[in-house]
Amino acid sequence: MDKQQEFVLRTLEERDIRFVRLWFTDVLGFLKSVAVAPAELEQAFDEGIGFDGSAIEGFARVYESDMIAKPDPGTFQILPWRAEAPGTARMFCDILMPDGSPSFADPRYVLKRILAKTSDLGFTFYTHPEIEFFLLKDKPLDGSRPTPADNSGYFDHTPQNVGMDFRRQAITMLESMGISVEFSHHEGAPGQQEIDLRYADALSTADNIMTFRLVMKQVALEQGVQATFMPKPFSEYPGSGMHTHLSLFEGDRNAFYESGAEYQLSKVGRSFIAGLLKHAAEISAVTNQWVNSYKRIWGGSTRTAGSGGEAPSYICWGHNNRSALIRVPMYKPGKTGSARVEVRSIDAGANPYLTYAVLLAAGLKGIEESYELPAGADDDVWALSDAERRAMGIEPLPQNLGEAISLMERSELVAETLGEHVFDFFLRNKKQEWEEYRSEVTAFELRKNLPVL
Ligand code: GLU
Ligand code: MG
Ligand code: MG
Repeated sequence: MDKQQEFVLRTLEERDIRFVRLWFTDVLGFLKSVAVAPAELEQAFDEGIGFDGSAIEGFARVYESDMIAKPDPGTFQILPWRAEAPGTARMFCDILMPDGSPSFADPRYVLKRILAKTSDLGFTFYTHPEIEFFLLKDKPLDGSRPTPADNSGYFDHTPQNVGMDFRRQAITMLESMGISVEFSHHEGAPGQQEIDLRYADALSTADNIMTFRLVMKQVALEQGVQATFMPKPFSEYPGSGMHTHLSLFEGDRNAFYESGAEYQLSKVGRSFIAGLLKHAAEISAVTNQWVNSYKRIWGGSTRTAGSGGEAPSYICWGHNNRSALIRVPMYKPGKTGSARVEVRSIDAGANPYLTYAVLLAAGLKGIEESYELPAGADDDVWALSDAERRAMGIEPLPQNLGEAISLMERSELVAETLGEHVFDFFLRNKKQEWEEYRSEVTAFELRKNLPVL
């Protein structure tokens, strides 16, 4: 038994923890949990805990349904909303096949695989997410419009604002679980919040995002409201993005930074961005995986005053251009050695493991094949005409999930990164969602056609 495992077992005893939840994530990014008694843990560390994988989206076909969850002791945390004794704790798990080999269906393994390749190339991958979401008074299940929990706007600070108490309690809870918060504020739409996590290696960030979503939902319930990470719940307000800042390090050195270079961006940094741009459309089904994701990308024309811009629709990069898919934040003199890129397409409903895996794969491809970075776009790309954008070589992101699926289906990069099992399952599941949506007669059509046709 190693030191971390010993620490977990000792803590369970000292803190009177009677329930240990083993967490993992399905292919669509939903959190799954199985509770075990502390007495089972020693064995769980050795061999894992068996469960029926056929019940989990994307995990197994019926004939190979036995799967094993093996807890990662480095992720042990006590759940603060179960503070009363006896307590409850959680650990993230790796999913194994009955023979002990890693399961190809486990999103955490998909990310680990590309991180191993990254480390073979001499790099460490860091991520820093800005997570947006809505607080709602209710979550109607019949398809009617929800009500935002407040009427505030961007950076508003008002005393009777549910968001403020919410953010304080939510951040305290995150910090007590070892998740550092850098920044938080009210976002542009009524009820919309943003909380930015401190940068961490990509696997920890993805685990943290899964914890974050649960904590937000939990705190919301305690305050009599509901949290949602749906990309675009309201037609007239901006949607919820999960912009993420990415950087590669070589040891202690930021590999994107080169003093004196244009934008202080090294060759590695430039090729990485070029890779993100070149593969942006084919990875879109992963970074923006829902029918609703494309309403965020294409739907937000009414800008809430001062909202600071909406989701990116076009594939380009800019220096301080919030309409661009990729933004290289302004270099701050004094912050020597630091450079990062912000990817703005990702939405709050993405599976963080798969999303970071495909982004990393796209960037690494750019480095390996020495892609040239096209010229940056300094204009507001929404304000340009189609012809102007075409002349500048700026392509749109997919128009909808159907188009995103067709592009992904032909992508060698995505197939290779997700592995055959996740790639096939994901496509099958998403095609079904698209078919269901495509065949539904919507309120829009009835409103538009019934009165006149
Ligand atoms: N809510 C916007 C989005 O969907 C982003 C607003 C911002 O720049 O923070 O991406
Ligand atoms: Mg924001
Ligand atoms: Mg941002």
